[in-house]
Amino acid sequence: MSVLAEEVVDVAPAPETAAESCSLENYLLLPDHSMDNRIARARARLGSAAILLGHHYQRDEVIRFADYTGDSYKLSKIAAETAARYLVFCGVHFMAESADVLGRADQRVILPDLNAGCSMADMAEIGQVEDCWDALEASGLREGGQTVLPGSILPLTYMNSTAAIKAFCGERGGLVCTSSNARAAFEWAFARAEKILFLPDQHLGRNTAYAMGIPLSEMAVYDPYQINGGLTPARLAAARVILWKGHCSVHQRFLPGHVDQVRAKYPGIQVVVHPECRWEVCQKADALGSTERIIALVEQAPAGSTFAIGTEIHLVNRLARRFAPEGKKIITLDDTGCLCTTMFRISPQHLCWVLENLIEGRVVNQITVPGDVKYWAKVALDRMLEVG
Ligand code: SF4
Repeated sequence: MSVLAEEVVDVAPAPETAAESCSLENYLLLPDHSMDNRIARARARLGSAAILLGHHYQRDEVIRFADYTGDSYKLSKIAAETAARYLVFCGVHFMAESADVLGRADQRVILPDLNAGCSMADMAEIGQVEDCWDALEASGLREGGQTVLPGSILPLTYMNSTAAIKAFCGERGGLVCTSSNARAAFEWAFARAEKILFLPDQHLGRNTAYAMGIPLSEMAVYDPYQINGGLTPARLAAARVILWKGHCSVHQRFLPGHVDQVRAKYPGIQVVVHPECRWEVCQKADALGSTERIIALVEQAPAGSTFAIGTEIHLVNRLARRFAPEGKKIITLDDTGCLCTTMFRISPQHLCWVLENLIEGRVVNQITVPGDVKYWAKVALDRMLEVG
């Protein structure tokens, strides 16, 4: 990834903002509420030249300005289809990278705060994954192809990974998936190989494989900090799914005891969790789903329904407010609240800063994926979009 600090754009300067300093430090001194009118004004001036994409985990003060909201799958599809020249991605780094990979050559992707990363994506570095693949090949495994051969394997990565990891998968016959289409991606891979290496979220991989009928005994966890991943040849031979030892720091906080507690306190409550949660939590839940599916389940439920939801707290709180008038009660599965601190880095001040810079003719915080990485990452992402 490289960042272009400034690029001149073809939007006429706004007289009312041109006199103000565009230094980010000046924005960060201002209170949240003072940003609203400025963001709205800048957004209106940019018109169809820009779109604002907002992930469901964004804070309210930011997501209210999004033209489109969604999970990473939905937003990546929009990024691939929009005619807008500037894509302001209110999400995290890997999402902006995917938008750059899928977008047109003349489009610019902007991440309002470059520190908005993802702890899960950071758990799989490209050097570690290459070492892992070398170890798997040294054990006798070979890249899968058109037909399933004994000892064949394909790499499959969750959307929540760097562009380099996506490219790694694309170059080796694999693909990307999201929590919406993980099962379809697994089926695609198993039609071509005997085994899957799943990166970087062990929980999504385990939950998906288990739902397909693969027992836990046929899954193995590869620990990049141990020799050969900490796997014996026998363990590796028995595994149909090799799970990278990564996780989401937000969703891993939900525990089986939380499910027991809400069921005891609210008899009849429906527990719905994101598949990035631990397998033990998912087994106790009534339903699993991506953020889009969680929203759909609440929308479709009859009035008076009660839900405990295991996902990021901003989405849960928003759902609770939205559906309260319909008599639906929604609480978080863990009442200490699970905040995605990296998503939270996108503040109204950062959003205002990037938009007003655009108005003044500058692109700041552009996310650019290098050409060779972009090529193979697009191969993997296109396979995902084909899988649906
Ligand atoms: S919720 Fe978890 S997986 Fe999603 S961006 Fe935050 S740390 Fe990453």
